[in-house]
Amino acid sequence: MTTTLLQPGQIEAAAGSIPELRLPPADLFLTRARRLAQLAEHHTLADYLNFIARLAEAQQVRLGDLPEASLPTAGQLTQCLDYQMPPLAPAGLARPAGWRDTARHLARTVQPALPAAGQAALQGILDAPDAWLDEQAGHLLEGNTRNLDAAAAPVIGAALQVHWTQLARQLDPAQVARPEHPNLCPVCGSHPVSSVVRIGGTEDGLRYLHCALCSSEWHVVRAKCSNCDNSRGIAYYQVEGGDSVVRAESCPECQTYLKVVHQDKHPLADPVADDLATLTLDLLMDEAGFARSGINWYLIQGPA
Ligand SMILES: [Zn+2]
Ligand SMILES: [Zn+2]
Repeated sequence: MTTTLLQPGQIEAAAGSIPELRLPPADLFLTRARRLAQLAEHHTLADYLNFIARLAEAQQVRLGDLPEASLPTAGQLTQCLDYQMPPLAPAGLARPAGWRDTARHLARTVQPALPAAGQAALQGILDAPDAWLDEQAGHLLEGNTRNLDAAAAPVIGAALQVHWTQLARQLDPAQVARPEHPNLCPVCGSHPVSSVVRIGGTEDGLRYLHCALCSSEWHVVRAKCSNCDNSRGIAYYQVEGGDSVVRAESCPECQTYLKVVHQDKHPLADPVADDLATLTLDLLMDEAGFARSGINWYLIQGPA
């Protein structure tokens, strides 16, 4: 493991008209699926990464098939903007129509790719009453992992992601307020998975945090802890001998870390896929005494 110290603001782009919010692109899940399949080659977790690649592929197909969703009213959106509140926060929003059908559709699509035990585990999603699915979704959205069905969680989470990503795509960045604290998504109020340094256009070299639920990305300067706003003593860790596409940004104040995924080191790097493929780094950070501040819904439990 190696450590490099960077000065706060050292590498930040000059202030100006930078895109503060990136709403999710149309091919989000397809890009993710392709990156997962690429990362699976010669990886010790190849079976797991390939399974998640199939799940992401199924998410993309479903996203393309959904009819337009109903956003909050214009009045509600204006109110959220005025009070700097996330307009798509799950607590203030009815569960999107059709989300349970999406969960069952995803389960049916990926089930054949699993060994018998995994297939049986996903059968629960197909057989369960609506009320059970609603309850499981509620646990996930509230971050209550104790009462989650571990085998069903990645698929239920994937279904919620599809619908919240669709809702976010129907927004205009001008309808979303910049939050007071950068640790939660300005669109839906969820935690980030990780952060990503983007390449190309006006976003070149900028760091964005990637939302675990709605897939939106918001700008947070580099060399600053997104969990507690501290910018002193930020240190970077990476696995010795690795390709440095993914580094862990650690904070000595709150003792947490968030991964930084570098598209400038690999153009196809993805904040969710590359996070899953670098679990070794999480183990090393745990040993070094840092808690993970990012949440990856594919990983709330291990491989089925
Ligand atoms: Zn979000
Ligand atoms: Zn911190």
